[in-house]
Amino acid sequence: MALGEFELIERFFARPPRRSDVLLGVGDDCALVQPPPTTVLAITTDTLVADVHFYRDADPENIGHKTLAVNLSDLAAMGARPAWVTLSLTLPDVDEAWLAAFCRGFDALAQRFAVEIIGGDTTKGPLTLGVQACGFVAPGRALTRAGARPGDVIYLTGTTGDAGLGLAWAKDPTRANDPLAPYLRQRLERPEPRVAEGQALVGIASAAIDVSDGLAQDLGHLLKASGVGATVEIHRLPRSAALANLPAGDAHRLALTAGDDYELCFTVPPPREAALAAACRQWSVPCTAIGRIEALPDLRLVDATGRTALGQIAGYRHFQGSEPP
Ligand code: ADP
Ligand code: MG
Repeated sequence: MALGEFELIERFFARPPRRSDVLLGVGDDCALVQPPPTTVLAITTDTLVADVHFYRDADPENIGHKTLAVNLSDLAAMGARPAWVTLSLTLPDVDEAWLAAFCRGFDALAQRFAVEIIGGDTTKGPLTLGVQACGFVAPGRALTRAGARPGDVIYLTGTTGDAGLGLAWAKDPTRANDPLAPYLRQRLERPEPRVAEGQALVGIASAAIDVSDGLAQDLGHLLKASGVGATVEIHRLPRSAALANLPAGDAHRLALTAGDDYELCFTVPPPREAALAAACRQWSVPCTAIGRIEALPDLRLVDATGRTALGQIAGYRHFQGSEPP
């Protein structure tokens, strides 16, 4: 490496302190942090591997953003307030321009949510980006996957399928100049973690999950954890302008099976729907009811006439199992 490990850490990862609850940040054997009294810590980690989770030649600023965003999304899905992160970098070499851009993307998102980098690890090897993120939530208030009950309404923030379509378009040169291409690329490379929305759902949602591996699969995890089933009405699935241009079957398949959107899927008992409506008014992203929790296990998809719609979703089962190892 051109720069030594310590110069590299000093140059790119040591930062002026941002939070008063960080007693000791980057530079010692451990970081020391002081969680607020009577809060529970929410801790998550997610690793992005080059050419598995992102293209090696993608814009490094976007890679920096996404590396942090996918972790903040997990905190959001628990209703936690983000606080501290550690960053484990495995780099094939020291490309200073790449690292500077990566840090710009990472830091801009960290700053928006008052998150501080408190440590990490730097090693040489195939490009791999790991983050551990910690946040706070009041005791007994975290949004788990396990609280959904029959009768609860299933909601989704934003739209799903966009990142998946963005990935398909990124491989298709005929789409390069399409007016919708920048939106889809943004959705794929710069997902917006629904941090404020997740925290607002504390006390309203009975269960929540972030949609990273496809709506059908992730909702399936929530149903299983809660010991319930559900019916989703596919004509209610919110679609972006880009998906609205597709044949309905293709749009539904993408919305249900494509990953990487990082929206929140959550359930709300009917008595709390008015509170949800009030909370939603403060959000910069719409939220849509897409179905209902039922006692009968498994996920059912119906169309506007109430008929089973599985047949319309070509490849639905196949795509459900298609996440990378
Ligand atoms: P040790 O060998 O004791 O584990 P390191 O030499 O790996 O320590 O790291 C020195 C300091 O720099 C530690 O505080 C560590 O948390 C921090 N650090 C190392 N790599 C990174 C990184 N990529 N991002 C942020 N902090 C880092
Ligand atoms: Mg040490």
